[in-house]
Amino acid sequence: MTDLFDVVILGGGSGGYACALRASQLGLKVALIEKDKLGGTCLHRGCIPTKALLHAGEVAHTVRHSKEFGINSSFESVDMPAVNTYKNAVVSRLYKGLQGLVKHRGVTYFEGTGKLISKDTIEVNGQKIQGKNIVLATGSYSKSLPGLNVDGVKVLSSEHALELNSVPAKVVILGGGVIGVEFAAAWNSLGSEVTIVEGLPNLIPAEDIDMSKGLEKAFRKLGIKFLTSVRFKSVDTSGAGVKVLLEDGTKLDADLLLVAVGRGPTSRGMGYEEVGITYAGEHIAVDEFCRTNLQNVFAVGDLIPGPQLAHVGFQEGILVAEFIQGLKPRPIDYLGVPRVTYCEPEVASMGLTEGQAAAKYGAENISVVKYDLAGNGKTQILKSAGLIKLIRENGGPVVGLHMVGSRAGEMIAEAQLIYNWEAMPEDVAPLLHAHPTVSEAMGEAHLALAGKPLHAHD
Ligand SMILES: Cc1cc2nc3c(=O)[nH]c(=O)nc-3n(C[C@H](O)[C@H](O)[C@H](O)COP(=O)(O)OP(=O)(O)OC[C@H]3O[C@@H](n4cnc5c(N)ncnc54)[C@H](O)[C@@H]3O)c2cc1C
Repeated sequence: MTDLFDVVILGGGSGGYACALRASQLGLKVALIEKDKLGGTCLHRGCIPTKALLHAGEVAHTVRHSKEFGINSSFESVDMPAVNTYKNAVVSRLYKGLQGLVKHRGVTYFEGTGKLISKDTIEVNGQKIQGKNIVLATGSYSKSLPGLNVDGVKVLSSEHALELNSVPAKVVILGGGVIGVEFAAAWNSLGSEVTIVEGLPNLIPAEDIDMSKGLEKAFRKLGIKFLTSVRFKSVDTSGAGVKVLLEDGTKLDADLLLVAVGRGPTSRGMGYEEVGITYAGEHIAVDEFCRTNLQNVFAVGDLIPGPQLAHVGFQEGILVAEFIQGLKPRPIDYLGVPRVTYCEPEVASMGLTEGQAAAKYGAENISVVKYDLAGNGKTQILKSAGLIKLIRENGGPVVGLHMVGSRAGEMIAEAQLIYNWEAMPEDVAPLLHAHPTVSEAMGEAHLALAGKPLHAHD
């Protein structure tokens, strides 16, 4: 038996390591157990490598289209091994930094596969690590469909897709959610012919309908094909590539099939059931302080219900550390979590969609403003297009902010302050926005919502 820790954390991804860093900052004695690499999905197989891939794609797109800006250049080819070297270098610099930080904070790090063997003990490499508090942070895995075998050769998960050493000529992507459309955008700009298959009527179906339509318009212009309201039936991998059959009889030939149909929690086979932890479906059930049904056992990140986002994991990890230390943190408002889809154009949103706001307040009690980015100077300079959509409760605050356009992901910072501080459009309207920026469209949209539009035909 080793020393008794204040907190023992299973899983060193966004949720787990954020909890470790905050708990040790608060003076608690912390153990962190990780079977693979510190940083988890986000750093090694998610947020960071996908955004590096998308950026490489943007560079290729810029070079191909440079003449539109009066710059003569010629696009030769994509050197995928070199793209991977760039991507991996970004990951490895951040990985080294994170390892140093965890060490610097005095967290005791255990490498190995852990198993919960009682409500206060995790076993790893035959060693029993005991904690006054346990935090489960074992994350999630890429899901597939019944009967669909992800072989890692022709039928890929996002993890496999990030390891490719060449750009596939033709790809079918199953799933038009965030991960699916991000890979579609990256591969399209790197030169692939891409078709997305989505079972629901629109791409990024969790977003406000106008954002889906804005993205679909942009994808059509870029030549990204998509089929909606149609479901996958089967795939034949016996030939040179893949032959994908859809339920409506459509047949699609491609080199590869990417399966991007969502992620499920890594919640089985680690002793959780045996120790008596309660589940919410496949996820671990928790209260607003991320407490499971067992006293002093917490769960965070993709393992629990809620948005599967790195910054949600960070915040839950911090919340748990502060709760354990008795700091009485405020529960997380999950509607106040910024959501960004990092394709080009980007999609970013906060709060309620128009449909959700109408259901909550009544359609007659909300006002909606749509500000077309055609009127935004910087968007024109970038040769981009898009929309900002704001929703307010009449006489009340802004309850939904939605954007599709270049750099929308950076503008979400202001949107999240507006939403989380429950700002009235009249509070935001007089605030100055620098000209010419994309973000000044946020100011213009609030001017319109406050009843005094500037660059708009009223
Ligand atoms: C392709 C892709 C792109 C994404 N892009 C974004 C993005 O742009 N922005 C964003 O916010 N989110 C993004 N995400 C989601 C984000 O990566 C996750 O929400 C986040 O990583 C969840 O953190 P976590 O700590 O819950 O789990 P994870 O990061 O999955 O970490 C869990 C860790 O637990 C370890 N573990 C599991 N079982 C055991 C065990 N028994 N013993 C020891 N260790 C164990 C695993 O090895 C892993 O390191 C993306 C995800 C993917 C797949």
